[in-house]
Amino acid sequence: GAADVECDVLVLGAGPGGYSAAFRAADLGLKVVIVERYATLGGVCLNVGCIPSKALLHVAAVMDEVRHMVDLGVDFGAPSVNIDKLRSHKDKVIGKLTGGLAAMGKMRKVSTVRGVGTFLDPHHVEVEETTGAGTERSGAKKVLRFKHAIIAAGSQSVKLPFFPQDERIVDSTGALALKAVPKKMLIVGGGIIGLEMGTVYSTLGARLDVVEMMDGLMQGADRDLVKVWEKMNAGRFDKIMLKTKTVGAEATPEGIKVQFEGLDGSKSEGLYDLVLQAVGRTPNGKKIGAEKAGVAVTDRGFINVDLQMRSNVPHIFAIGDIVGQPMLAHKAVHEAHVAAEVIAGTLKGDKELASAAFNARVIPSVAYTDPEVAWVGLTEDQAKAQGIKVKKGLFPWTASGRAIANGRDEGVTKLLFDDSPEAHGHGRILGGGMVGTHAGDMIGEVALAIEMGADAIDIGKTIHPHPTLGESIGMAAEVAHGSCTDLP
Ligand code: FAD
Repeated sequence: GAADVECDVLVLGAGPGGYSAAFRAADLGLKVVIVERYATLGGVCLNVGCIPSKALLHVAAVMDEVRHMVDLGVDFGAPSVNIDKLRSHKDKVIGKLTGGLAAMGKMRKVSTVRGVGTFLDPHHVEVEETTGAGTERSGAKKVLRFKHAIIAAGSQSVKLPFFPQDERIVDSTGALALKAVPKKMLIVGGGIIGLEMGTVYSTLGARLDVVEMMDGLMQGADRDLVKVWEKMNAGRFDKIMLKTKTVGAEATPEGIKVQFEGLDGSKSEGLYDLVLQAVGRTPNGKKIGAEKAGVAVTDRGFINVDLQMRSNVPHIFAIGDIVGQPMLAHKAVHEAHVAAEVIAGTLKGDKELASAAFNARVIPSVAYTDPEVAWVGLTEDQAKAQGIKVKKGLFPWTASGRAIANGRDEGVTKLLFDDSPEAHGHGRILGGGMVGTHAGDMIGEVALAIEMGADAIDIGKTIHPHPTLGESIGMAAEVAHGSCTDLP
């Protein structure tokens, strides 16, 4: 039958991937429709992810800093928290950004169809209208015909099957709702999301336990950096349970009783006012009728794509969390631009645009905790596992004038350079990381150095302003090159 709406590009999902793809495609002159089940644009990142978590983490960091000021000679007294006001501040931050997106979409004449989209065939999506603040379905349906589609349907948090339905058991979305501050909180999963939310709640007054199956927190980050983080954050935790599984839970009037089992067989139990499930995210690939369009979805729900972000169906693309790890907003945005450009180039016969490809060497990761941990490229463990010989440059922030002046010298900057014989002592940078305040704001320089193929001299001879934390990157490079002689 006839379609209710026709377009060049249909974008399924309005997260960082979806809106970035839609805006780029519209800027390139295409007729674009976004299908989104929620009332606002922005997806997980703006509504229940990156942005609200950072709004709360900022407040937590200031509170911690203020408490720390006592040691520096200034006592502000104990902070008193108005949780309703804090929540409404966070909601205002979200509103500003999602409102801004809506305005940018309008300016570009990108239309949005509100509802749950499902593929009917390789050129049609049916949208079941949703209303209100959530995803209640009104029953109304529309059919959209598209030339090209970009699937940007994202991911959702994994729920452990044995947790009972109880409002004291939440995922990151529930934790960000910030209903109250519990006395005792369990974080299931010691990854970035769990530790960020734990930081917020512990600064607000909660005592934390964390349980992690692997042998360390913050998997993926360099162990030298995590060690510093753990030392600085030890005070937040009653227990850090590593190599431990969560195996059962029951809701009691006194709290949520949770059972643990160590990989060595040991058993234990804890009682919690709030339990945060942060054991990872699963892609939404199985919920969009992809098979009707002929788009292949893996057992785990991912959609495999080539470097141009094409699925196995050449006119249907996929981007963001739904195409795989790392599930990060900045990755989604870059993939989005590639997909939009390839489509625009194909439709308009522009060969240069049509040959766009995702060819980033590295994608940085940041834990916005206190201190922050940021890393990009190879870690020392990964280099070892891959048999790559590296030369490292470690710069402790106890030697940074700025870090000392800030009263925050507990950081480390670490860079790794290729030290294989073929590099002849001028090996390029392969990876780097930092733990310390503002580490996340500085890791971009290391990413740039890797993309540009810089060696230790390039970075070390680049004049960094003094006194800054960013100097630590130049110093770490000089340490690796052996030209730094004035370390304590
Ligand atoms: P999403 O943002 O998941 O958007 C997908 C959209 O598609 C959603 O709006 C959804 O409603 C919609 N949708 C899905 N199916 C349908 C359908 N059938 N019909 C209509 N609409 C549909 N990343 C960072 O880089 N930095 C951070 O600091 C960071 N912090 C995070 C903190 C938390 C608590 C969480 C949960 C995540 C965080 N992330 C962070 C990850 C980041 O949010 C994701 O990587 C990013 O949102 C992925 O973008 P996306 O476009 O792929 O999908």
